[in-house]
Amino acid sequence: MKLIFERSRQGLRCATLRPVEVSTYGLKKEYLRKDLKLPEVAEVDLARHYTELSRNAFGVDSGFYPLGSCTMKYNPKLNEEVAALPGFTKIHPLQDEESVQGCLHLMADLSGDLMELTGMDGMTLQPCAGAHGEFTGLMLIAAYHESRKDKKRTKILVPDTAHGTNPASAVMAGFEVVNIPSNAEKGVDLDALRAAVGDDTAALMLTNPTTLGLFEKNIEEISKIVHDAGGLLYYDGANLNAIMGVVRPGDMGFDVIHLNLHKTFSTPHGGGGPGSGPVGCKEKLVQFLPNPSVIKDKKGNYQFECSKKSIGKVSSFYGNFAVMVKAFAYIKTLGGDGIKESAEHAVLNANYMKAKLQDIYPTDTNRYCMHEFVIDIQKLKNETGVSAKDIAKAMIDRGMHPPTMYFPHIPGVIDEALMIEPTETESKQTLDDAVAVLRELYELAFKDPKYLQEAPHNMAIGRPDEVAAARKPIVRFEGEY
Ligand SMILES: *Cc1c(COP(=O)(O)O)cnc(C)c1O
Repeated sequence: MKLIFERSRQGLRCATLRPVEVSTYGLKKEYLRKDLKLPEVAEVDLARHYTELSRNAFGVDSGFYPLGSCTMKYNPKLNEEVAALPGFTKIHPLQDEESVQGCLHLMADLSGDLMELTGMDGMTLQPCAGAHGEFTGLMLIAAYHESRKDKKRTKILVPDTAHGTNPASAVMAGFEVVNIPSNAEKGVDLDALRAAVGDDTAALMLTNPTTLGLFEKNIEEISKIVHDAGGLLYYDGANLNAIMGVVRPGDMGFDVIHLNLHKTFSTPHGGGGPGSGPVGCKEKLVQFLPNPSVIKDKKGNYQFECSKKSIGKVSSFYGNFAVMVKAFAYIKTLGGDGIKESAEHAVLNANYMKAKLQDIYPTDTNRYCMHEFVIDIQKLKNETGVSAKDIAKAMIDRGMHPPTMYFPHIPGVIDEALMIEPTETESKQTLDDAVAVLRELYELAFKDPKYLQEAPHNMAIGRPDEVAAARKPIVRFEGEY
């Protein structure tokens, strides 16, 4: 399609500005641009340009979007409407507390609901992403050990099935990362864990369900080993939609958790935000939570409170407020039973698709999965030359977003992974259609591998040079207009 610059014709206008009625401000000459090149188009051209752009984008509202690890689920439009109410949007973060009682009330109640769902004693809504929550949680852990003058604890244990942000956040927070290998069942290898813990262990970070979509089997044992050694337990709860309302990390022995409101709790994501990564913790860590927190005083008024032992602020003001409103609306709409049902559907949908595919698309384990599963295309590739990427590209032609590709990637073990997360919001009909497409593509791989290797056939762009697009992006129009 043409760029807006290429549509530009001199003299075309969308709007006519009124003549200036105030005296012009005299900016020094050296600060003035010699010329400002903006595209010149008529309103109709502009409308068509953006409409065409939007048609070329694929979103949850356009079709099935089983992007594993990302929870690209459909989110009720009602929650958007609620978040856009003027009482929530036409406020300023520096307003007096008395004038924003409703908003503070919502923050306090949302924190309370999230504490109940996770089994924690305190919660901050400040962090603006999952990884930001991890960083915040690790700062709490550092403050805890520091307050006990336990200065040797510099290491964070991270199982190899953790989300990639876990080790990165640990390094950002000033810790050293110790990798814990998996056992044959793709869970934490307990012997390796016993060998790694010690008086230098600050915490273990567990992603559960793991990045393979499996529930960690030995959580109680892991929890005991780490606590006995004086370390704390961190739960990566980004994918809480697999367990919410069913089990609580706080009850499993975890001391700190982060959640991704922009996955589980109804804020659409992809494209960079805005997100929210609340962090919950047990009583012994509450005093270190970021300042300020919202409390309800004796008269029933909501106000901000600061703790002297706090790790400080982790974002300007209070976090992404509109995301909190959507999460609150979502939780209140579903209620306790609905939240549990939503988790059950996330798990049921993934297992349904897995079962319908596994005779031809083997998974990496025979266990039931949680909200997502990984299929291995290696055997198909050996037999036909068709790769995970080819299957993914052909799905685009059939109106579906590809699953997550080549993740996890363990050279020699899983080299051709597709990670599928149907999410709880898809119907049986949609899942059956997706299964039918994947089965059709499997047969095509034998009949006409070339067709798949050249897919997609119906898209504006087929196979871009993905590495060059990421490493050397051209984000500026250099031509003439
Ligand atoms: C998405 C995700 C994260 C990171 O969340 P961001 O908001 O992208 O920083 C961390 N852990 C898990 C398990 C995730 O799925």
